[in-house]
Amino acid sequence: MTPEHSLYIHIPFCVHRCAYCDFNTYAGQESLIPTYVGALCREIEIVAHSAAERLSAHTIFFGGGTPSLLSAVQFESILKTIRATYNLTAEAEISLEANPGTITLDSLRDLRGLGFNRISLGVQSIHPDELRQLDRIHDTFDVIDAVTWARRAGFDNLNLDLIFGLPEQSLERWQATVKLVLGLRPEHLSLYALTVEHGTPFGRWAQRGLLSVPDPDVAADMYEWAGEALQAAGFEQYEISNWAKPGRQCRHNLQYWRGKPYLGFGAGAHGFASGFRISNVLRIKTYIERFHPGYQIPIPPFPLSPATVAQTKITTRVEMQETMLTGLRLTREGVSAEEFADRFGVQMRDVFGREIDELIGLLLLEWSGPVLRLTKRGRLLGNQVFMRFVG
Ligand code: SF4
Repeated sequence: MTPEHSLYIHIPFCVHRCAYCDFNTYAGQESLIPTYVGALCREIEIVAHSAAERLSAHTIFFGGGTPSLLSAVQFESILKTIRATYNLTAEAEISLEANPGTITLDSLRDLRGLGFNRISLGVQSIHPDELRQLDRIHDTFDVIDAVTWARRAGFDNLNLDLIFGLPEQSLERWQATVKLVLGLRPEHLSLYALTVEHGTPFGRWAQRGLLSVPDPDVAADMYEWAGEALQAAGFEQYEISNWAKPGRQCRHNLQYWRGKPYLGFGAGAHGFASGFRISNVLRIKTYIERFHPGYQIPIPPFPLSPATVAQTKITTRVEMQETMLTGLRLTREGVSAEEFADRFGVQMRDVFGREIDELIGLLLLEWSGPVLRLTKRGRLLGNQVFMRFVG
């Protein structure tokens, strides 16, 4: 039986580029949105028609960039294309990433009317000076308005993203952000440690000594404190950076972490299906050109698209490594030795016995019955664990 797929739609437009961001997104190109949406619809159709059978989709995620820059009519045309070409399950999760500074009560009502049932808001901090430092376009009042309006529009599944370990950020200021955000009663919280990326303004300032790099010990204290506060507030941690009220985990992201298939549409989108990892061309204009009627290339085989620029056939060895990498991110679920054996026909211990023993010795991994999981310490040092499996 063909597995259910997840669909990721990348919207690479932002009003303004935040100082820490290294995502594939562009400011000042909003005039291209209408033709971009047309190209997206074409890509969705081409990939659907190249599959051997009509595929089922159980999650759709609009990420970016700032997807909330699209109009209701543009979202409608994309969703209409998906519904016409995929079997969208009745309970499909349809999520939108939104910048609190770019939504209104009316736009949220439109989105709800179109079938969106989950909103993820990039809050990052409640402190005006921290938001300014990050170069975000919203303020704390925008966040409160956005949450109030989302509830009024009928959304009962809300995620709020926060960033910790900001330069000069104290534990107390982080605690104030978490406390205020808990008061907004979201169903889901994603907490990310700031990473200073090369090629961003933050990266350049750090290189010139103008930005104090976050102290890893303080960041670890922030992570641990938040984990306890969220647990006390009724959230369950299910992934290194994600907490949810019972039953409110992000089904779309679980698809990635469980190594299940997903198709990525749009400039710079990634996909994984039929044993291939694929990625699309990054630049918006080049992406649009690939779907221009005058652009003559044969329709590639599933799951590729005219926008594909890289494809890698995943070997069994790599699939096993990725199973460990993504599965161990799931802090409760972990990687089941039984499921591993069913999927690959070999025991996890026979493939990764040495790595597992070493990481258990370092108190980074533990067995819980047949399930291998990160320890509390392992959650803080996840990258060290993951590197060991791809070593
Ligand atoms: S809004 Fe999000 S995607 Fe856009 S520049 Fe800022 S961090 Fe990056």
